[in-house]
Amino acid sequence: LLEAHDLWKSFGDREVLRGVSIDLSAHEVVAVIGASGSGKSTLLRCLNLLEPIDDGRILLGGEDISDPRVHADRVRARFGAVFQSYNLFPHLSVIDNVTLASRVVRGVSRRDAERRGMELLERIGLTAQAKEHPDRLSGGQQQRAAIVRAIATDPEVLLLDEITSALDPELVTEVLELVRSLADDGATILMATHEMAFARDVAHRVVFLDAGRILEQGTPAEVFGAPREPRTREFLARFM
Ligand code: ATP
Ligand code: MG
Repeated sequence: LLEAHDLWKSFGDREVLRGVSIDLSAHEVVAVIGASGSGKSTLLRCLNLLEPIDDGRILLGGEDISDPRVHADRVRARFGAVFQSYNLFPHLSVIDNVTLASRVVRGVSRRDAERRGMELLERIGLTAQAKEHPDRLSGGQQQRAAIVRAIATDPEVLLLDEITSALDPELVTEVLELVRSLADDGATILMATHEMAFARDVAHRVVFLDAGRILEQGTPAEVFGAPREPRTREFLARFM
């Protein structure tokens, strides 16, 4: 579904992605792990065209979205993305946050968008807070609302970048449980995460990014259970 070939990206003279190739099949859940600064966020941002790449090719559903002639906004609407924090628009109510993209980008009527939006909020137990502004919600509630906002437009691929790392530990589980249920429903997910136990549990494949290169990848059992590369072992030792 998503194929990236030999992506290169520098900021100034700092090479952040050095020939990354990654592919994602429909319904696949892939976890990207790696040290801080290894390029995980940059990779995710390049894939949905939030950052221009210097070299390489990205195909989404067979379409070359790295072609400079493609309309970046149109492509971005095919992805759902959730980041570490500040995902929701603070001046909009929760339901408006969830329905905005459907109404503005997809042209869905307010009535239909709100019906779907309330279903999604029901799923995460937030219907009572629909009319509240995000600052009235806990961090975990905000991230769950951000996730349902991202799926409200039925994106082809969900990109999740360290969505629990700004949360208090007691709020992490509820957010990860939502991701797990989306994975169970067949969503296609690429997530950068430091939650190794969760990656091990939910991901079909784990990719270890080291200084802008994929050093190793495989099933969770392979990468966590029997890492081949010394640098992978060294990295994982910090979490075990
Ligand atoms: P973390 O685990 O801390 O989130 P990461 O693996 O997501 O790290 P990136 O955020 O992709 O790492 O950053 C990789 C490198 O690129 C870092 O050295 C960072 O300083 C640099 N970098 C990222 N974005 C920019 C930018 N917009 N301008 C300049 N340098 C950047
Ligand atoms: Mg990051």
